Amino acid sequence: MPRPASRSVSAGQPGPRRDHHSHPVPPAAARVTTAATLLLNATYEPLCVVSSRRAIVLVLAEKAVSVDAAAEEVHSESVTLPVPVVVRLTRYVRVPYPAQVPLSRRAVFTRDSSTCVYCGSSATSIDHVVPRSRGGTHTWDNVVAACRRCNHTKADRSLAELGWKLPHPPHTPSGAAWRLLGARTVDPRWREWLGVPESVSA
Ligand SMILES: [Zn+2]
Repeated sequence: MPRPASRSVSAGQPGPRRDHHSHPVPPAAARVTTAATLLLNATYEPLCVVSSRRAIVLVLAEKAVSVDAAAEEVHSESVTLPVPVVVRLTRYVRVPYPAQVPLSRRAVFTRDSSTCVYCGSSATSIDHVVPRSRGGTHTWDNVVAACRRCNHTKADRSLAELGWKLPHPPHTPSGAAWRLLGARTVDPRWREWLGVPESVSA
């Protein structure tokens, strides 16, 4: 049985022709469509993964700021912008589920304002208040930002032994949860923000 309909579609092809010169698409913009960006809340809690195109829209609308960007750039008529790998919302968004913020070096530094909790100078490392060698846990209530000197001085001693005090007990940041990544590939550049363990001292 002849099928003229399908034959005419595959043969003639007199359909509309794309003229590339009249619709220039920057290669960067084309790539961005499929790229993904990690979206953080204003408090650095990971919220979700969005398309990089969506992330760029958020940045251009000043609803988010880029905190980590790729080498590639995306161009529009008025702006050239590095393609964001991670963006952070400028305003905190309340998320209707309870959660624990992943413990990451950056998040600890953010919580402790990048300041050594022992002496107030600029923090360069993470310290376990109760040293891990003494059973201290790698948890929010036992991890603080510290300067190298205090970290080195403290070594594996307890605060009581040193006569040191914390200004306040280290708290667990509260807020929105990390709920996405089960099914998708994690961009290695997101790891820092997702609480993937990295080398820490003491
Ligand atoms: Zn210090």
